[in-house]
Amino acid sequence: MWRNWAGNQTCRPAVMADPATRADVARAVVRAAAAGHVVRVAGASHSFTDAVVTDGALLSLRHCNRVLDIDRATRRIRVEAGITLRELNQVMAEHGLAFPNLGDIEAQSIAGATATGTHGTGARLQNLSAALHSIELVTADGTPIEVNAEQDPDIWRAARVGVGALGVVTAVTIQAVPAFTLEAVDRPMAVEEVLADLDELLATNDHFQLFTFAHSPLAMTSARNRTGLEPRPVSRTRAWVEDEFVQNHLLRTVCELSRFVPGANAPLQRLGSHLAGYSHRIDRSDRIFTTPLRVPFVEMEYAVPREHTAEAVRAVRELARRPEFQVTFPIEVRWVAPDDAYLSPAAGRETCYIALHQYHKLDWEPYFRAAEAIFDSFGGRPHWGKQHFQTAETLRPRYPEWDSFQAVRTRLDPEGRFANAYVRRVLGEI
Ligand SMILES: Cc1cc2nc3c(=O)[nH]c(=O)nc-3n(C[C@H](O)[C@H](O)[C@H](O)COP(=O)(O)OP(=O)(O)OC[C@H]3O[C@@H](n4cnc5c(N)ncnc54)[C@H](O)[C@@H]3O)c2cc1C
Repeated sequence: MWRNWAGNQTCRPAVMADPATRADVARAVVRAAAAGHVVRVAGASHSFTDAVVTDGALLSLRHCNRVLDIDRATRRIRVEAGITLRELNQVMAEHGLAFPNLGDIEAQSIAGATATGTHGTGARLQNLSAALHSIELVTADGTPIEVNAEQDPDIWRAARVGVGALGVVTAVTIQAVPAFTLEAVDRPMAVEEVLADLDELLATNDHFQLFTFAHSPLAMTSARNRTGLEPRPVSRTRAWVEDEFVQNHLLRTVCELSRFVPGANAPLQRLGSHLAGYSHRIDRSDRIFTTPLRVPFVEMEYAVPREHTAEAVRAVRELARRPEFQVTFPIEVRWVAPDDAYLSPAAGRETCYIALHQYHKLDWEPYFRAAEAIFDSFGGRPHWGKQHFQTAETLRPRYPEWDSFQAVRTRLDPEGRFANAYVRRVLGEI
Protein backbone atom coordinates (compact mmCIF):
# COMPACT_ATOMS: atom_id res chain seq x y z
CA MET A 1 0.00 0.00 0.00
CA TRP A 2 1.32 3.45 -0.92
CA ARG A 3 0.02 6.75 0.47
CA ASN A 4 1.10 10.35 0.00
CA TRP A 5 2.12 12.89 2.65
CA ALA A 6 -1.34 14.48 2.92
CA GLY A 7 -3.06 11.08 3.06
CA ASN A 8 -5.52 12.02 0.28
CA GLN A 9 -4.00 9.59 -2.26
CA THR A 10 -3.46 5.87 -1.83
CA CYS A 11 -2.92 2.90 -4.12
CA ARG A 12 -2.14 -0.79 -4.09
CA PRO A 13 0.32 -1.40 -6.95
CA ALA A 14 0.71 -4.88 -8.49
CA VAL A 15 4.47 -4.60 -7.94
CA MET A 16 6.47 -2.36 -5.61
CA ALA A 17 10.24 -2.21 -5.93
CA ASP A 18 12.98 -0.08 -4.44
CA PRO A 19 15.99 -0.76 -6.66
CA ALA A 20 19.41 -0.26 -5.09
CA THR A 21 21.24 0.84 -8.25
CA ARG A 22 20.47 2.62 -11.51
CA ALA A 23 21.07 -0.63 -13.39
CA ASP A 24 18.42 -2.25 -11.17
CA VAL A 25 16.00 0.55 -12.14
CA ALA A 26 16.53 -0.26 -15.83
CA ARG A 27 15.95 -3.96 -15.13
CA ALA A 28 12.76 -3.15 -13.18
CA VAL A 29 11.40 -1.16 -16.15
CA VAL A 30 12.11 -4.08 -18.52
CA ARG A 31 10.44 -6.54 -16.12
CA ALA A 32 7.38 -4.29 -15.77
CA ALA A 33 7.10 -3.98 -19.55
CA ALA A 34 7.27 -7.77 -19.93
CA ALA A 35 4.45 -8.11 -17.38
CA GLY A 36 2.42 -5.41 -19.14
CA HIS A 37 2.53 -3.02 -16.16
CA VAL A 38 2.52 0.76 -16.30
CA VAL A 39 5.57 2.15 -14.45
CA ARG A 40 5.35 5.05 -12.01
CA VAL A 41 7.93 6.38 -9.58
CA ALA A 42 7.30 7.66 -6.07
CA GLY A 43 9.71 10.38 -5.04
CA ALA A 44 9.08 11.57 -1.48
CA SER A 45 5.30 11.29 -2.08
CA HIS A 46 4.67 14.97 -1.31
CA SER A 47 2.36 15.62 -4.26
CA PHE A 48 -1.34 16.15 -3.59
CA THR A 49 -2.49 14.92 -7.00
CA ASP A 50 -2.70 11.27 -8.08
CA ALA A 51 0.55 11.79 -10.04
CA VAL A 52 2.12 8.70 -8.44
CA VAL A 53 -0.97 6.49 -8.13
CA THR A 54 -0.87 3.22 -10.07
CA ASP A 55 -2.11 -0.35 -10.03
CA GLY A 56 0.95 -1.33 -12.11
CA ALA A 57 4.60 -1.18 -11.03
CA LEU A 58 5.62 1.45 -8.49
CA LEU A 59 9.32 2.16 -8.08
CA SER A 60 10.85 4.03 -5.18
CA LEU A 61 14.32 5.46 -5.75
CA ARG A 62 14.96 6.15 -2.06
CA HIS A 63 18.04 3.87 -2.15
CA CYS A 64 19.32 5.60 -5.28
CA ASN A 65 20.32 8.70 -3.34
CA ARG A 66 24.10 8.83 -3.75
CA VAL A 67 26.19 11.84 -4.60
CA LEU A 68 28.11 10.83 -7.75
CA ASP A 69 30.37 13.79 -8.42
CA ILE A 70 31.03 17.35 -7.29
CA ASP A 71 32.93 19.64 -9.64
CA ARG A 72 33.97 22.69 -7.64
CA ALA A 73 35.26 24.53 -10.73
CA THR A 74 31.97 24.41 -12.66
CA ARG A 75 29.85 24.20 -9.46
CA ARG A 76 28.06 21.17 -10.86
CA ILE A 77 26.91 18.37 -8.64
CA ARG A 78 25.81 15.00 -10.00
CA VAL A 79 23.45 12.94 -7.83
CA GLU A 80 21.14 9.98 -8.07
CA ALA A 81 17.51 10.95 -8.55
CA GLY A 82 16.15 9.72 -5.22
CA ILE A 83 18.25 12.06 -3.08
CA THR A 84 16.16 14.49 -1.04
CA LEU A 85 16.59 18.25 -1.18
CA ARG A 86 17.48 18.10 2.53
CA GLU A 87 20.37 15.70 1.85
CA LEU A 88 21.42 17.79 -1.13
CA ASN A 89 21.33 21.08 0.78
CA GLN A 90 23.63 19.60 3.41
CA VAL A 91 26.14 18.21 0.89
CA MET A 92 26.10 21.41 -1.13
CA ALA A 93 26.67 23.54 1.97
CA GLU A 94 29.69 21.39 2.91
CA HIS A 95 31.17 22.20 -0.52
CA GLY A 96 30.31 25.91 -0.52
CA LEU A 97 27.39 25.48 -2.92
CA ALA A 98 23.63 26.09 -2.88
CA PHE A 99 20.44 26.08 -4.96
CA PRO A 100 19.70 29.60 -6.24
CA ASN A 101 16.17 29.30 -4.85
CA LEU A 102 14.03 26.79 -2.93
CA GLY A 103 10.39 26.23 -1.95
CA ASP A 104 8.95 26.03 1.56
CA ILE A 105 10.20 22.55 2.44
CA GLU A 106 13.15 20.30 1.64
CA ALA A 107 11.56 16.86 2.05
CA GLN A 108 11.07 16.24 -1.68
CA SER A 109 13.36 14.16 -3.88
CA ILE A 110 15.21 16.11 -6.56
CA ALA A 111 13.51 14.15 -9.38
CA GLY A 112 10.04 14.46 -7.83
CA ALA A 113 10.42 18.18 -7.12
CA THR A 114 11.59 19.06 -10.61
CA ALA A 115 9.09 16.74 -12.36
CA THR A 116 6.15 18.89 -11.19
CA GLY A 117 7.79 22.31 -11.56
CA THR A 118 8.33 22.92 -7.85
CA HIS A 119 9.28 26.54 -7.16
CA GLY A 120 10.10 29.08 -4.49
CA THR A 121 9.69 32.84 -4.77
CA GLY A 122 11.75 35.54 -6.50
CA ALA A 123 10.60 37.54 -9.51
CA ARG A 124 14.08 37.24 -11.07
CA LEU A 125 14.48 33.52 -10.28
CA GLN A 126 13.07 30.48 -12.04
CA ASN A 127 11.52 27.21 -10.90
CA LEU A 128 13.81 24.58 -9.36
CA SER A 129 14.00 22.56 -12.61
CA ALA A 130 15.88 25.47 -14.21
CA ALA A 131 18.83 24.57 -11.95
CA LEU A 132 19.22 21.22 -13.73
CA HIS A 133 22.16 20.92 -16.10
CA SER A 134 21.47 17.39 -17.35
CA ILE A 135 19.23 14.40 -16.70
CA GLU A 136 19.73 10.65 -16.99
CA LEU A 137 16.48 9.04 -18.07
CA VAL A 138 15.61 5.35 -18.35
CA THR A 139 13.18 5.13 -21.26
CA ALA A 140 10.41 2.61 -21.98
CA ASP A 141 12.68 -0.15 -23.30
CA GLY A 142 15.01 0.16 -20.29
CA THR A 143 17.70 2.13 -22.13
CA PRO A 144 19.28 5.02 -20.18
CA ILE A 145 19.81 8.25 -22.10
CA GLU A 146 21.61 11.40 -21.03
CA VAL A 147 19.63 14.54 -21.78
CA ASN A 148 20.93 18.11 -21.82
CA ALA A 149 20.51 21.33 -23.78
CA GLU A 150 23.33 20.58 -26.26
CA GLN A 151 22.54 16.92 -26.89
CA ASP A 152 18.82 17.39 -27.74
CA PRO A 153 17.18 20.74 -26.94
CA ASP A 154 13.72 19.32 -27.58
CA ILE A 155 13.94 16.42 -25.12
CA TRP A 156 15.70 18.76 -22.70
CA ARG A 157 12.83 21.26 -22.64
CA ALA A 158 10.37 18.40 -22.19
CA ALA A 159 12.24 16.39 -19.57
CA ARG A 160 12.92 19.16 -17.04
CA VAL A 161 9.24 19.26 -16.03
CA GLY A 162 8.10 15.85 -17.27
CA VAL A 163 5.44 14.80 -14.70
CA GLY A 164 7.04 11.32 -14.79
CA ALA A 165 5.59 10.78 -18.29
CA LEU A 166 8.82 10.37 -20.25
CA GLY A 167 10.68 7.72 -18.26
CA VAL A 168 12.42 7.15 -14.95
CA VAL A 169 14.91 9.85 -14.01
CA THR A 170 17.84 8.01 -12.45
CA ALA A 171 20.40 10.82 -12.02
CA VAL A 172 20.67 14.57 -12.50
CA THR A 173 23.44 17.14 -12.64
CA ILE A 174 22.61 20.37 -10.86
CA GLN A 175 24.12 23.71 -11.72
CA ALA A 176 24.63 25.14 -8.24
CA VAL A 177 25.61 28.68 -7.22
CA PRO A 178 28.12 29.72 -4.55
CA ALA A 179 26.68 29.25 -1.05
CA PHE A 180 25.02 32.44 0.21
CA THR A 181 23.50 33.92 3.33
CA LEU A 182 20.01 35.43 3.43
CA GLU A 183 18.66 38.18 5.62
CA ALA A 184 14.93 37.56 6.17
CA VAL A 185 12.54 40.22 7.41
CA ASP A 186 8.97 39.12 8.12
CA ARG A 187 6.45 41.82 8.87
CA PRO A 188 2.72 42.39 8.65
CA MET A 189 1.49 44.84 6.01
CA ALA A 190 -1.98 45.71 4.75
CA VAL A 191 -2.79 43.47 1.78
CA GLU A 192 -3.88 46.48 -0.29
CA GLU A 193 -0.62 48.29 0.51
CA VAL A 194 1.35 45.26 -0.77
CA LEU A 195 -0.72 45.09 -3.95
CA ALA A 196 -0.29 48.82 -4.57
CA ASP A 197 3.51 48.64 -4.12
CA LEU A 198 3.98 45.23 -5.71
CA ASP A 199 6.32 46.18 -8.55
CA GLU A 200 8.67 47.93 -6.15
CA LEU A 201 8.55 45.12 -3.56
CA LEU A 202 9.37 42.55 -6.24
CA ALA A 203 12.10 44.69 -7.80
CA THR A 204 13.86 45.53 -4.55
CA ASN A 205 13.81 42.09 -2.91
CA ASP A 206 15.52 38.91 -4.11
CA HIS A 207 12.68 36.85 -2.67
CA PHE A 208 9.33 38.29 -1.63
CA GLN A 209 6.21 36.38 -0.61
CA LEU A 210 3.12 36.76 1.48
CA PHE A 211 0.59 34.78 3.45
CA THR A 212 -2.83 36.25 4.08
CA PHE A 213 -5.83 35.05 6.05
CA ALA A 214 -8.94 35.87 4.02
CA HIS A 215 -10.74 37.36 7.05
CA SER A 216 -7.91 39.75 7.88
CA PRO A 217 -6.94 42.92 5.99
CA LEU A 218 -3.30 42.07 6.76
CA ALA A 219 -0.67 40.00 5.00
CA MET A 220 2.39 38.49 6.68
CA THR A 221 5.10 39.47 4.21
CA SER A 222 8.53 37.93 3.98
CA ALA A 223 11.42 39.72 2.25
CA ARG A 224 14.64 37.77 1.88
CA ASN A 225 17.81 39.26 0.52
CA ARG A 226 21.39 38.17 0.04
CA THR A 227 23.75 39.63 2.59
CA GLY A 228 27.48 39.67 3.21
CA LEU A 229 26.84 39.30 6.95
CA GLU A 230 27.73 36.08 8.76
CA PRO A 231 24.85 33.65 9.50
CA ARG A 232 23.39 34.04 13.00
CA PRO A 233 21.27 30.91 13.51
CA VAL A 234 18.48 31.64 15.98
CA SER A 235 18.41 29.87 19.34
CA ARG A 236 16.63 26.52 19.56
CA THR A 237 13.96 28.10 21.76
CA ARG A 238 13.21 30.86 19.27
CA ALA A 239 13.22 28.41 16.36
CA TRP A 240 10.76 26.23 18.28
CA VAL A 241 8.46 29.17 19.07
CA GLU A 242 8.45 30.55 15.49
CA ASP A 243 8.67 27.36 13.41
CA GLU A 244 7.00 24.74 15.57
CA PHE A 245 4.67 26.57 17.96
CA VAL A 246 3.23 29.24 15.63
CA GLN A 247 3.38 27.41 12.28
CA ASN A 248 2.40 23.99 13.54
CA HIS A 249 0.86 23.77 17.04
CA LEU A 250 -1.05 27.06 16.94
CA LEU A 251 -2.25 26.51 13.38
CA ARG A 252 -3.46 22.99 14.23
CA THR A 253 -5.36 24.38 17.26
CA VAL A 254 -7.01 27.07 15.11
CA CYS A 255 -7.98 24.44 12.51
CA GLU A 256 -9.47 22.10 15.11
CA LEU A 257 -11.28 24.91 16.97
CA SER A 258 -12.77 26.27 13.74
CA ARG A 259 -13.86 22.77 12.75
CA PHE A 260 -16.03 22.44 15.84
CA VAL A 261 -16.91 26.14 16.29
CA PRO A 262 -17.07 27.52 12.72
CA GLY A 263 -18.03 30.97 14.02
CA ALA A 264 -14.63 31.24 15.70
CA ASN A 265 -12.75 31.06 12.39
CA ALA A 266 -12.97 34.71 11.29
CA PRO A 267 -12.08 36.26 14.69
CA LEU A 268 -9.27 33.74 15.15
CA GLN A 269 -7.83 34.67 11.75
CA ARG A 270 -7.97 38.38 12.57
CA LEU A 271 -6.39 37.78 15.96
CA GLY A 272 -3.67 35.56 14.46
CA SER A 273 -2.83 38.19 11.83
CA HIS A 274 -2.50 40.91 14.46
CA LEU A 275 -0.37 38.72 16.71
CA ALA A 276 2.00 37.70 13.89
CA GLY A 277 4.77 40.13 14.57
CA TYR A 278 8.07 41.26 13.17
CA SER A 279 10.86 38.73 12.74
CA HIS A 280 14.45 39.17 11.59
CA ARG A 281 16.84 36.32 10.77
CA ILE A 282 20.21 35.93 9.07
CA ASP A 283 21.15 32.40 8.10
CA ARG A 284 22.33 29.97 5.45
CA SER A 285 20.01 30.22 2.41
CA ASP A 286 18.38 26.78 2.70
CA ARG A 287 17.65 27.33 6.39
CA ILE A 288 15.82 30.56 5.56
CA PHE A 289 13.92 29.16 2.57
CA THR A 290 12.59 26.00 4.21
CA THR A 291 10.73 25.25 7.43
CA PRO A 292 9.10 22.09 8.79
CA LEU A 293 5.38 21.98 7.97
CA ARG A 294 3.59 19.33 10.01
CA VAL A 295 -0.10 20.23 9.98
CA PRO A 296 -1.54 18.05 7.20
CA PHE A 297 -3.39 19.94 4.49
CA VAL A 298 -4.47 19.54 0.88
CA GLU A 299 -3.34 22.22 -1.55
CA MET A 300 -4.20 23.79 -4.88
CA GLU A 301 -1.77 26.19 -6.53
CA TYR A 302 -2.10 28.11 -9.76
CA ALA A 303 0.38 30.05 -11.86
CA VAL A 304 -1.27 33.19 -13.27
CA PRO A 305 0.34 35.90 -15.39
CA ARG A 306 2.02 38.32 -13.00
CA GLU A 307 0.02 41.30 -14.27
CA HIS A 308 -3.15 39.71 -12.84
CA THR A 309 -1.75 39.37 -9.31
CA ALA A 310 -3.92 42.01 -7.63
CA GLU A 311 -7.23 41.00 -9.24
CA ALA A 312 -6.59 37.29 -8.62
CA VAL A 313 -5.54 37.76 -4.98
CA ARG A 314 -8.60 39.92 -4.26
CA ALA A 315 -10.95 37.41 -5.92
CA VAL A 316 -9.49 34.45 -4.04
CA ARG A 317 -9.56 36.28 -0.69
CA GLU A 318 -13.23 37.08 -1.23
CA LEU A 319 -13.96 33.45 -2.07
CA ALA A 320 -12.11 32.12 0.98
CA ARG A 321 -14.27 34.31 3.24
CA ARG A 322 -17.41 32.40 2.25
CA PRO A 323 -18.54 30.56 5.41
CA GLU A 324 -19.53 27.35 3.61
CA PHE A 325 -15.88 26.67 2.69
CA GLN A 326 -14.58 26.84 6.30
CA VAL A 327 -11.10 27.92 5.17
CA THR A 328 -8.73 27.96 8.13
CA PHE A 329 -5.39 28.24 6.33
CA PRO A 330 -3.85 31.40 4.90
CA ILE A 331 -3.47 32.01 1.15
CA GLU A 332 0.17 32.01 -0.03
CA VAL A 333 1.38 34.25 -2.87
CA ARG A 334 4.78 33.98 -4.61
CA TRP A 335 6.36 35.16 -7.85
CA VAL A 336 8.83 33.55 -10.28
CA ALA A 337 10.60 34.39 -13.53
CA PRO A 338 9.70 32.77 -16.87
CA ASP A 339 11.52 29.66 -18.09
CA ASP A 340 11.45 27.53 -21.23
CA ALA A 341 10.53 24.02 -20.02
CA TYR A 342 7.56 23.04 -22.19
CA LEU A 343 5.31 22.11 -19.25
CA SER A 344 6.59 24.54 -16.66
CA PRO A 345 3.62 26.46 -15.24
CA ALA A 346 5.87 29.54 -15.57
CA ALA A 347 6.81 28.75 -19.19
CA GLY A 348 7.24 31.94 -21.19
CA ARG A 349 5.64 34.37 -18.76
CA GLU A 350 6.30 36.34 -15.59
CA THR A 351 4.31 34.42 -13.02
CA CYS A 352 2.46 34.86 -9.77
CA TYR A 353 1.72 31.61 -7.93
CA ILE A 354 -1.32 31.62 -5.65
CA ALA A 355 -1.70 28.66 -3.29
CA LEU A 356 -4.81 27.65 -1.34
CA HIS A 357 -4.66 25.17 1.50
CA GLN A 358 -7.39 23.29 3.30
CA TYR A 359 -7.02 21.43 6.60
CA HIS A 360 -6.98 17.71 5.79
CA LYS A 361 -10.04 16.99 7.94
CA LEU A 362 -12.18 19.52 6.06
CA ASP A 363 -13.75 19.20 2.62
CA TRP A 364 -11.45 20.83 0.05
CA GLU A 365 -13.29 20.08 -3.16
CA PRO A 366 -16.05 22.78 -3.23
CA TYR A 367 -13.52 25.49 -2.28
CA PHE A 368 -10.96 24.35 -4.85
CA ARG A 369 -13.54 23.99 -7.64
CA ALA A 370 -14.79 27.53 -7.02
CA ALA A 371 -11.20 28.81 -6.90
CA GLU A 372 -10.32 27.03 -10.13
CA ALA A 373 -13.04 28.98 -11.93
CA ILE A 374 -11.26 32.18 -10.83
CA PHE A 375 -7.86 30.89 -11.95
CA ASP A 376 -9.35 29.76 -15.27
CA SER A 377 -10.53 33.30 -15.92
CA PHE A 378 -6.88 34.45 -15.70
CA GLY A 379 -5.51 31.66 -17.93
CA GLY A 380 -4.03 29.96 -14.86
CA ARG A 381 -1.87 26.88 -15.12
CA PRO A 382 -2.03 24.38 -12.24
CA HIS A 383 0.97 23.14 -10.26
CA TRP A 384 1.31 19.53 -11.49
CA GLY A 385 1.72 18.23 -7.94
CA LYS A 386 -1.25 20.08 -6.40
CA GLN A 387 -4.98 19.47 -6.66
CA HIS A 388 -6.74 20.62 -9.80
CA PHE A 389 -9.52 19.42 -12.07
CA GLN A 390 -8.06 20.17 -15.50
CA THR A 391 -7.78 17.78 -18.43
CA ALA A 392 -5.50 17.67 -21.46
CA GLU A 393 -8.26 19.40 -23.41
CA THR A 394 -8.49 22.39 -21.05
CA LEU A 395 -4.72 22.61 -20.56
CA ARG A 396 -3.52 22.44 -24.15
CA PRO A 397 -4.47 26.05 -25.06
CA ARG A 398 -2.62 27.33 -21.96
CA TYR A 399 0.77 25.93 -22.99
CA PRO A 400 2.16 27.43 -26.21
CA GLU A 401 4.50 24.45 -26.67
CA TRP A 402 2.11 21.70 -25.61
CA ASP A 403 2.44 19.87 -28.94
CA SER A 404 6.26 19.95 -28.73
CA PHE A 405 6.02 18.15 -25.38
CA GLN A 406 3.64 15.60 -26.85
CA ALA A 407 5.99 14.97 -29.80
CA VAL A 408 8.81 14.15 -27.36
CA ARG A 409 6.47 11.96 -25.32
CA THR A 410 5.46 9.99 -28.41
CA ARG A 411 9.15 9.58 -29.32
CA LEU A 412 10.23 8.37 -25.88
CA ASP A 413 7.17 6.47 -24.69
CA PRO A 414 5.20 5.38 -27.79
CA GLU A 415 3.18 2.76 -25.88
CA GLY A 416 2.34 4.82 -22.81
CA ARG A 417 4.43 2.70 -20.43
CA PHE A 418 4.68 5.67 -18.02
CA ALA A 419 1.07 6.85 -18.33
CA ASN A 420 -1.10 6.32 -15.24
CA ALA A 421 -4.65 7.70 -14.94
CA TYR A 422 -3.34 11.15 -13.90
CA VAL A 423 -1.02 11.40 -16.89
CA ARG A 424 -3.78 10.27 -19.25
CA ARG A 425 -6.15 12.84 -17.78
CA VAL A 426 -3.84 15.84 -17.80
CA LEU A 427 -1.60 15.03 -20.77
CA GLY A 428 -3.97 12.87 -22.81
CA GLU A 429 -3.61 9.44 -24.38
CA ILE A 430 -0.51 8.78 -26.45
C1 LIG B 1 4.18 20.32 2.95
C2 LIG B 1 4.42 20.57 1.46
C3 LIG B 1 5.04 21.73 1.07
C4 LIG B 1 5.27 21.98 -0.29
N1 LIG B 1 5.86 23.15 -0.67
C5 LIG B 1 6.03 23.43 -1.99
C6 LIG B 1 6.62 24.66 -2.42
O1 LIG B 1 7.04 25.49 -1.61
N2 LIG B 1 6.72 24.89 -3.75
C7 LIG B 1 6.24 24.00 -4.69
O2 LIG B 1 6.31 24.29 -5.87
N3 LIG B 1 5.71 22.82 -4.31
C8 LIG B 1 5.60 22.52 -2.99
N4 LIG B 1 5.05 21.31 -2.62
C9 LIG B 1 4.73 20.34 -3.68
C10 LIG B 1 5.91 19.40 -3.96
O3 LIG B 1 7.12 20.12 -4.09
C11 LIG B 1 5.69 18.66 -5.27
O4 LIG B 1 4.46 18.00 -5.27
C12 LIG B 1 6.81 17.68 -5.58
O5 LIG B 1 6.58 17.11 -6.83
C13 LIG B 1 6.95 16.58 -4.54
O6 LIG B 1 8.18 15.91 -4.71
P1 LIG B 1 8.32 14.36 -4.33
O7 LIG B 1 9.75 14.00 -4.34
O8 LIG B 1 7.55 14.09 -3.11
O9 LIG B 1 7.64 13.70 -5.60
P2 LIG B 1 6.34 12.78 -5.69
O10 LIG B 1 5.18 13.53 -5.18
O11 LIG B 1 6.62 11.47 -5.11
O12 LIG B 1 6.22 12.66 -7.27
C14 LIG B 1 5.90 13.77 -8.06
C15 LIG B 1 5.91 13.37 -9.54
O13 LIG B 1 7.25 13.10 -9.95
C16 LIG B 1 7.33 11.79 -10.48
N5 LIG B 1 8.66 11.27 -10.11
C17 LIG B 1 9.22 11.23 -8.90
N6 LIG B 1 10.46 10.70 -8.99
C18 LIG B 1 10.66 10.41 -10.29
C19 LIG B 1 11.74 9.84 -11.03
N7 LIG B 1 12.87 9.47 -10.42
N8 LIG B 1 11.60 9.70 -12.35
C20 LIG B 1 10.46 10.05 -12.98
N9 LIG B 1 9.42 10.60 -12.34
C21 LIG B 1 9.52 10.78 -11.02
C22 LIG B 1 6.20 11.04 -9.84
O14 LIG B 1 5.81 9.91 -10.59
C23 LIG B 1 5.12 12.11 -9.82
O15 LIG B 1 4.54 12.21 -11.09
C24 LIG B 1 4.85 21.03 -1.28
C25 LIG B 1 4.23 19.83 -0.85
C26 LIG B 1 4.02 19.60 0.51
C27 LIG B 1 3.35 18.32 0.93
